[in-house]
Amino acid sequence: MIPGLVDPHTHFDSPYEGVNTRDDLESGSIAAAFGGTTSVIDFALQLPGQPILEAFREWRARVELTSSVIDYGFHITLTDLDVANAEADLSQLVAEGVTSFKFYMAPDGPIRADDQTLFRGLQLAADLGAMALVHAENADVIAVLQRQALEQGHTAPIWHARTRPAEAEGEAANRAIQLAHAAGAPVYIVHISCVEAAAEVARARERGWPVWGETCTQYLYIEESALDQPGFEGAKYTFTPPPRPSAQIAGLWTALERGTLSVVSTDHCPYDWRGQKSLGESDFTKIPGGAPGVEERLTMIYRGVTEGRMPMNVMIDALARNPARIFGLYPRKGAIAPGSDADIVVFDPTVRTTMSAASQHSRVDYNLFEGETGAGAARTVLVRGTPVIQDGELVAEPGHGRFLARDRVS
Ligand code: MN
Repeated sequence: MIPGLVDPHTHFDSPYEGVNTRDDLESGSIAAAFGGTTSVIDFALQLPGQPILEAFREWRARVELTSSVIDYGFHITLTDLDVANAEADLSQLVAEGVTSFKFYMAPDGPIRADDQTLFRGLQLAADLGAMALVHAENADVIAVLQRQALEQGHTAPIWHARTRPAEAEGEAANRAIQLAHAAGAPVYIVHISCVEAAAEVARARERGWPVWGETCTQYLYIEESALDQPGFEGAKYTFTPPPRPSAQIAGLWTALERGTLSVVSTDHCPYDWRGQKSLGESDFTKIPGGAPGVEERLTMIYRGVTEGRMPMNVMIDALARNPARIFGLYPRKGAIAPGSDADIVVFDPTVRTTMSAASQHSRVDYNLFEGETGAGAARTVLVRGTPVIQDGELVAEPGHGRFLARDRVS
């Protein structure tokens, strides 16, 4: 038995720029449950000009048109703090259990938080006891490199990686950490893909600053070369930041084992390869960015355990205990203990599974790890003591999942 896993980074039913992720709360939560995940924290988005509380209420009402089989909470992604009642709205959201604010330093577009917005948001997080999450990449550097690439006629998916250097991620991670320290806010750097960013997290943590780093399953397995395939195949791997060369992958496993990185999430953001990713067939900057993976996390990371990349207890920390602690859910979630929620996974370490779009539960039309062998499987999954998966079969009552009001983080 292991604690039910917590995935603090998913994008279910997320409509952005007219393209909607393929999993809603129902299908996404079912896929998550098959992967041993009993709680997710998804992202609600405030668009520029939208009052924050109204944006959150609309988002939640729309997402809840389908129902979850596991428990779920939300972060709020902030893009505009010049709207009316911003501070009062955020205070209300924190009171309702939305205790984390997300900021996109990249891309260079409507959802970007420039440094003024980021810094004001960090001050508000500090004042209200919320966690700041930051997508750390330097938007201006990427904009210059993308423009130059397109001017030179480079349109293929590999240029997604070639225009997003690791230094642009390391620089932005450092900037976010320094600004958070100046504002007095705790900060969590999402989806770290490179040692440049991990090193900044390590430096801050050595100083005792409240800084955490997350990576995702895909950064621990997918190499940059996956983008460089014939035809449009590489578009399956256009997530952001991009996959990196193998030396970076080794560095991320080491950073997890040492505790520099605290969490492995999925950043599950599923767009179909046909019909959605193909919007960028003649321009890599127009490929919707993101990849699926909410179901595959446990079996792919346990494979790392069997290969000696990390001990079992580090895996449980990274997949359950740490995300619960960081985001105000511990010890309700992330633990098997008296008074906790009885979110429990009966884990069979002997199973070997071949990853495949044909057998996955996500609605998306490909599997990021197609043909790879995963180790171990969640056989039975309990959410608050009730079986959601039993002996590998879905047995959940519709709507078993509940909204998670999370505690303040400080
Ligand atoms: Mn994301």
